[in-house]
Amino acid sequence: MAFDVQEFKKEYQKTFEELFAYSYEDGSKTEQFIALGDLVRGRYSEDWIQTITNYNKKKEKQVYYFSMEFLPGRMLKSNLLNMGILDCVKQGMEEMGLDLDEVARAEVDPALGNGGLGRLASCFMDSIASTGLAGNGNGIRYRYGLFKQKFINGYQIELPENWLRNRNVWEVRKENKAVIVRFGGDVSFTQDGEGKLRVRHENTRDILAVPYDTAQVGYNNGIVNNLRLWSAEIPYGDEARFSTEEQREEVKRITEVLYPDDSNYEGRLLRVQQEYFFSSAGVQSIVRYFKRLNLDWSLFPDKIAIHINDTHPTLAIPELMRILLDEEGLTWDQAWEITKKTVSYTNHTILQEAMERWPETMISDLLPRIYQIIQEINRRHIDKKTPLYGEELTQRTAIIANGQIKMANLAIIGSHSVNGVAKLHTDILMADTLHDFYVMYPQKFNNKTNGITQRRWVQIANENLTAMLDETIGAEWKSDPEEIKILKAHRDNKAVLDKLEQVKLANKKRFAAYALKEMNLEIDPTALFDVQIKRLHAYKRQLLNVLHILDRYLQLKDNPKINLQKRVFIFGAKAAPSYYYAKQIIKLINAIADMINNDPALNDKIKIVFVENYGVSLAELIIPAADISEQISLAGKEASGTSNMKLMSNGAVTMATLDGANVEIRDNVGEDNIFIFGLKSDEVQEYYRNGVYNSRDIYEKNPRLKRILNLLIDGTIPGVETEARDIFDSLVMYNDEYFLLKDFDSYLQAQYEADKAFSDRDRWNRMALMNIASSGPFSSDYTILRYADEIWKIKPQN
Ligand SMILES: *Cc1c(COP(=O)(O)O)cnc(C)c1O
Repeated sequence: MAFDVQEFKKEYQKTFEELFAYSYEDGSKTEQFIALGDLVRGRYSEDWIQTITNYNKKKEKQVYYFSMEFLPGRMLKSNLLNMGILDCVKQGMEEMGLDLDEVARAEVDPALGNGGLGRLASCFMDSIASTGLAGNGNGIRYRYGLFKQKFINGYQIELPENWLRNRNVWEVRKENKAVIVRFGGDVSFTQDGEGKLRVRHENTRDILAVPYDTAQVGYNNGIVNNLRLWSAEIPYGDEARFSTEEQREEVKRITEVLYPDDSNYEGRLLRVQQEYFFSSAGVQSIVRYFKRLNLDWSLFPDKIAIHINDTHPTLAIPELMRILLDEEGLTWDQAWEITKKTVSYTNHTILQEAMERWPETMISDLLPRIYQIIQEINRRHIDKKTPLYGEELTQRTAIIANGQIKMANLAIIGSHSVNGVAKLHTDILMADTLHDFYVMYPQKFNNKTNGITQRRWVQIANENLTAMLDETIGAEWKSDPEEIKILKAHRDNKAVLDKLEQVKLANKKRFAAYALKEMNLEIDPTALFDVQIKRLHAYKRQLLNVLHILDRYLQLKDNPKINLQKRVFIFGAKAAPSYYYAKQIIKLINAIADMINNDPALNDKIKIVFVENYGVSLAELIIPAADISEQISLAGKEASGTSNMKLMSNGAVTMATLDGANVEIRDNVGEDNIFIFGLKSDEVQEYYRNGVYNSRDIYEKNPRLKRILNLLIDGTIPGVETEARDIFDSLVMYNDEYFLLKDFDSYLQAQYEADKAFSDRDRWNRMALMNIASSGPFSSDYTILRYADEIWKIKPQN
């Protein structure tokens, strides 16, 4: 795929002129991007074809990663990097008078996911290709991605995100690979000539699923895998059945928009339609592929692994059963063995409000045959397990109970592997959340701690650090992330520490320029940049961060001359549109930012930057500029977290509770290079069990905290009276569900320690260095190799 600069320039000019019929110099940034994208796609297409052909020829076992969300970020630079032509293209563009970064920014960031779960899927797709695994993605091509966030008067406003407006240069529509997905209808049974029961499924509402394929380019290895996203359309030739506008709308609606809920269950009919739509389409196309191999059905699990990312694609299980039973004529036992051996499941949450469960009547109306199969799976499960584990335990593991279908239960029973996403999370699943299942199927449970790809999060996001690392320890780490540990040898090298400080400063200046240009906010790049970027959710405790800010505010108000570390608090967070409390917190933070940023008496000792529309692209700007990484969820609530890993890789020091992967980050980086505070997960559990927590008591007995909380109700903060009152009440009157008040003192103590450490430049730079040097194990390349080895049983190609 390599070229030289001259060749590239010629090709680019030609591509541009063929597309737009004038010279690239007169083109808009968008047109310049589209031309470059087209050129790049053309450049990897041969490898793309070759990779797929190879898999088919060798009948290689392939994994299909089913995910309702993918959050890839802009793909231009990532593709260039992985193809090994980033530097060449950058130089060529420059020689043509173009700035690659500017052109790259013209790409729309496809927000086809909410947060961590979708971003994980995209890091995994990159790692699957880059480690040379035969893997495919399967998901939904939403017409509108996650809403665009605006702040108006401090309130979150949601605008539609029409990410396809300039067309999508990366996707290839594959009309000839479309399949029909059927909803509704009547199911009846007849006997065939041999007396075998045959299923008749008639009068269905048929919807065409059209795949759009996007290449997933591996890192310098010639592998180009496929991400397949499905779009709902009216079947060709069937237009007459969709004669009214309403009928046509109904079809379009299925893949129209991503549900903007994160860590929350959305029980609406459209959502389950989406889930079945892409699960069914994916399974159908897999079966179609397998049949071309001409192998016995019993070999299906030796050629295919289907992985379901959370429970959203769980209907893939009864769908595979349906096809094997009704269409291919296998017996129940044959079909069940194949299905279980093929499917594996990742659990992403223990939050009860995020556990998917569908009303039985909804599934029986919408998917009558699938409903029958789920009933039968459930019946057989109960029959088989009751004699072994007793009535009570077995009933707790039932798929259908109280008129509801529990998707996690179906996912566990219908798969051969259940994994959590960090050691602590998996331990909690086994000991508590899924304990009954653990008793039944101990061998199914395993941990796969999440990871991130340093290609995007360091090489692309942080070019300064990348250059500095290459200079200091060579380029090994780029292909083998563990090798970054060599940096530890330089922990006492003053020149290296200074260099690292310069890199960080340059990145902070870049962010400061953004804040000035986009928000008209002046911030001091030498201040400590304290970063919390993630979805707005009560359990993530952005509010605890706010309480700390208000504490500093009061200290400065009491004594403007106090010697306090200058800090810039950076927030990025979207709230689900229906999550009222989270939106109140957004309003509160914006109101406090207004108050603090415009108070000259504070001498610029505190600034608050709440960026609008946080997403992958903003993450790439903010993370390299972070000094402190706020990972302060209530212990036991965050399954893993991945922004913690991205920030660590960029030399931010973590301020953390012992939650999710923070525990493993501490183990890797060592106690001296992280700030740990707060209740442990077992202590939280104990409070929930014994019910003795009393936040009002803490409020009354802690004068420092009381004074801060009173700021919420005494009119100090302008423009947020009702929201601040509600928030106050949630913490003081309604017993503070996430123990903010309990953790407050130890959080302040940890923040005080951080100030002290930051004031000693060598010490801080050493901590940053140790974080970078310890981040290798959190590469998603290793995570994915463990999935491949232990769950999917597939091996890298080369
Ligand atoms: C990594 C990432 C997340 C996940 O952040 P957590 O702090 O782990 O919840 C969410 N959104 C975006 C855009 C990300 O890049």
